[in-house]
Amino acid sequence: MDASSIIRKTAADQRVTPNFVDFAGERQRFSWEAAGRELSGATGKGGINIAAEAVERQAAGALRSKTAFRFLSRGKPARDVSFGEMSVLTSRFANVLKGLGIGCGERVFILAGRIPELYIAVLGGLKHGAVVSPLFSAFGPEPIATRVNLGAGRVLVTTDALYERKVAKWRDRMPTLEHVLLVAEEGGGTSIAGTLDLATLMAAAGDACEVAPTGAEDMALLHFTSGTTGTPKGAVHVHGAVVTHYATGRYALDLHADDIFWCTADPGWVTGTSYGIIAPLLHGVTSIIDREEFDAERWYGILQDEGVTVWYTAPTAIRMLMKAGAEIPRKYRLPQLRFIASVGEPLNPEAVRWGKEVLGLAVHDNWWQTETGGIMIANTPAFDIKPGSMGRPLPGIDAAIVRHHEDGTVTLIDEPDVEGELVLKRGWPSMFRGYLNNEERYRKCFAGPDNEWYLTGDLAKRDADGYFWFVGRADDVIKSAGHLIGPFEVESALMEHPAVAEAGVIGKPDPMVGEVVKAFVSLKHGFEASEALRMDLLGHARKRLGAAVAPKEIAFLPSLPRTRSGKIMRRLLKARELGLPEGDTSTLETA
Ligand code: AMP
Repeated sequence: MDASSIIRKTAADQRVTPNFVDFAGERQRFSWEAAGRELSGATGKGGINIAAEAVERQAAGALRSKTAFRFLSRGKPARDVSFGEMSVLTSRFANVLKGLGIGCGERVFILAGRIPELYIAVLGGLKHGAVVSPLFSAFGPEPIATRVNLGAGRVLVTTDALYERKVAKWRDRMPTLEHVLLVAEEGGGTSIAGTLDLATLMAAAGDACEVAPTGAEDMALLHFTSGTTGTPKGAVHVHGAVVTHYATGRYALDLHADDIFWCTADPGWVTGTSYGIIAPLLHGVTSIIDREEFDAERWYGILQDEGVTVWYTAPTAIRMLMKAGAEIPRKYRLPQLRFIASVGEPLNPEAVRWGKEVLGLAVHDNWWQTETGGIMIANTPAFDIKPGSMGRPLPGIDAAIVRHHEDGTVTLIDEPDVEGELVLKRGWPSMFRGYLNNEERYRKCFAGPDNEWYLTGDLAKRDADGYFWFVGRADDVIKSAGHLIGPFEVESALMEHPAVAEAGVIGKPDPMVGEVVKAFVSLKHGFEASEALRMDLLGHARKRLGAAVAPKEIAFLPSLPRTRSGKIMRRLLKARELGLPEGDTSTLETA
């Protein structure tokens, strides 16, 4: 990269003295043990509990009346909830679970938009020692049922509207689900058969609650992610992960106690939980939570009116703001905004520079994934930005590039600028501890002596200055608007349509959302390809999977390319779609 395109740190970036200024020194001095000692370890029994650190530690101290969350939603006044109120509300929710007979380690699912009850249920569930799994509310009934079943959910917290649209008809397919607790979207109560009204239960529950005596290795959160094949994978996270949330909030997001922080991610995705809920609370920071979807005017309005100082968002959102034009931001004044970070998909160099030109601040791209539980590689205040790079590993994180051999072994690549698989040395506290009920798949994620390297499934390069550059995924998973989508889940839903004989799903590059989901289908005997059938298939997929996962495009093919062992060759479908060389087709089945 030519030196002139590097974005140097300026005085504007140092208006507040950053937490992280000495990259090499801090990496050398850092230890996870020391970082953990900055938290209270307070379950009262020598263990650690995420809710105790995030809520109780603050509510018991000087921050009791400080606003923890400010909830925004269109047409309604903002609702502020202080650390002290969060402490009471989460205790009540924990007592609701206790009253229902839910024990430590049992699974509580939450399916809701970004409403206060979602945040109360996540933290109250953790306080109770339950395992919490927030689901994305734009999922359709099928992904919801699949995940609740995989996680053996006993409780589901959702809203009356979502329940009626997405859960009620599928409830008998979720045999472990005993209790559905409903929030009335329009206020008041709910009285739907087979469900309980959460507001009534909360009003009757006591305010006093002992935090469950969880230990660092006890399971806390279950986040589902997608692989190339098979059902979604439930990545298991433990209470000890809170040390990573804390340290990365300091190094990668530069959180200071007086910040107003806005993480735009939904807690249905790992970012919205680790950084939309936990990390800001740990730092005693006020978080803005907006219930609404993206809207350029609204977003600039929030940044201005709420006085946001640190903003954590996603490349798709930044590209959408760029597309909305430079006129809109001119109407807003954002003197408080001092740090912008983004995650989830490649951030184009133009987007980094756009931030600098239009908002006066470069965008700090960072990298991590559901399995890592927290930010691993980041552009931070401690060094200049090379636009297009994901940055450098944070203190406590060792990253490397390896050649991954067919037999599962790896060789480290020491030379700079050589592409290989990105790996991380195990040992950081928020590393996932398993894929639920799938030990084999988990084991395959590690290689090297003592299985010390976690294989991320991403291809990347490291340059001579230690910056990492994203190249692509090593597998077929799709990234659309920052959401990871497993082609298998989409193919399975399409296969349930009576006309579909086989389905193959790929990510088709898209300038705005990174990739769009495109499906290729061949039809059963007796069905004819037509526009009407295509629309019907699109509607079928959308109804089952929800808008976030369903394909945007469907094309008919007489048959799909398969390997001799019968696997659909998505790679070939993609190469043909993009007019690229077809690569090695020696395993292609020839009819
Ligand atoms: P998820 O588990 O849904 O958070 O998705 C994780 C995946 O998103 C990673 O394995 C990458 O493929 C991709 N990803 C995350 N952050 C970045 C980034 N900064 N640049 C490029 N890809 C990213």
